[in-house]
Amino acid sequence: MRYLLLSDIHSNIDALDAVLDDARGVETDGVLVLGDLVGYGAEPELVVERVRALAPLAIVRGNHDKVVAGVASDDGFNPLAKTSAGLTRRALSPASLDYLAALPQGPLAVDPVIEICHGSPFDEDWYLHQEMDVLEALATSKRPVCLFGHTHVPFVATAEAEGELETLLAGDGDGREIAIGAGRRYVVNPGSVGQPRDGDPRAAYGVVDTETLTVTVHRVAYPVERARDRIFAAGFPRPLGQRLMVGR
Ligand code: ZN
Repeated sequence: MRYLLLSDIHSNIDALDAVLDDARGVETDGVLVLGDLVGYGAEPELVVERVRALAPLAIVRGNHDKVVAGVASDDGFNPLAKTSAGLTRRALSPASLDYLAALPQGPLAVDPVIEICHGSPFDEDWYLHQEMDVLEALATSKRPVCLFGHTHVPFVATAEAEGELETLLAGDGDGREIAIGAGRRYVVNPGSVGQPRDGDPRAAYGVVDTETLTVTVHRVAYPVERARDRIFAAGFPRPLGQRLMVGR
């Protein structure tokens, strides 16, 4: 199977449309969505509608989806995220709010090779930044390839038998195919469609192939100024627009 991987779209319709355009040339069997459809960006309703139209084979909720849908409180959110969650809730139709509220919690097994989660397989909201946590994710995932998001940074790693972490990709993502050899475990973050944080403002998405055992992270330029200006016009906090320009 070959899957298109979308994570952390964050209400950025300009980035999502550019990604879907770019991915049109790639034959896939279906779409996997790793959470955070909404939050931060100005077009939550359009993004939810677009994602629903893709009919993802599997999808998990992100921390922003939960807070916006009222499934979780915003206690852990910083002031920008709280303001954004409130504005996002008001911009969504009842049908889209119901859709977000019903999104399943990860991790979710997709097939014998792949599982998906938002943050980590041991805690859906945990950020896989630290090496120790990446090793724990590799140890606790129930499938050889665990796809995650939440950090907004492309990342691929595997572990030696002795537990030493081998990082195959950290940031960037240049369209190079990365082999995910049989008999080993991998964690894969395809990066963020709508709010990249690795210093590259281009949208990120991934493709994983369970037959050729490869994963690829692609980057796509999109009209960042347009996404920023939508954020300004909708009255969201301005830093949420400005950060898109620098990919941070
Ligand atoms: Zn996110």
